[in-house]
Amino acid sequence: MSEIKSICVYCGSNGDVRESYRESATSLGKLMADNGIRLVYGGGQVGLMGLVANSVMANNGEVTGIIPEFLDKLEVGKSDVTEFIKTDNMHDRKMKMAELSDAFIVLPGGLGTLDETFEILTWKQLGLHKKPVLILNIDGYWDNLIKLIDHQITEKFAKPENRNLFNVSTTPEEAIKLLQNIEPYDHKVETKWA
Ligand code: AMP
Repeated sequence: MSEIKSICVYCGSNGDVRESYRESATSLGKLMADNGIRLVYGGGQVGLMGLVANSVMANNGEVTGIIPEFLDKLEVGKSDVTEFIKTDNMHDRKMKMAELSDAFIVLPGGLGTLDETFEILTWKQLGLHKKPVLILNIDGYWDNLIKLIDHQITEKFAKPENRNLFNVSTTPEEAIKLLQNIEPYDHKVETKWA
């Protein structure tokens, strides 16, 4: 078991969403701060992203925000954090977020959140990292996503082992507890359909 010192949180940039999603972002931020876990995230002050970052900071935790220059204005970059990094492009942002994090949590979000989630999962599938990825399924928000992956397995576009690339929790408390006790994911990378 390796100690989790930083978690990258992927989540929506919209804040005008169901209250339970907003609450989960705020309580996840507090839990991370209370447990001495640094937040690594996309660097915006809008939406669930802003809520989780504000909550970590308000509870004396540490935050690294990473934003590409062109999104800094659009997302109203949140620079009053422990560390604020600007990148040249989205690719560098996602790479940096991945490098600086010991684990990943996926809160409810939109297309950008999906992109980030599937990139980190496919990198894991290819053996490029072994870090935990946890889907935080608040109020069943991600049920359809999980069903889709199960459907891909049934239809043989994904392997049954792919189901082990991620864990699912329904509360921030359960998520942090699970990540603190998880074993590193080790699997043999081989030609997918040999
Ligand atoms: P969203 O889930 O669409 O609200 O976006 C959440 C995060 O994903 C934000 O940090 C966005 O900057 C990022 N994002 C948005 N669109 C994309 C995209 N096409 N590719 C990768 N990340 C994105």
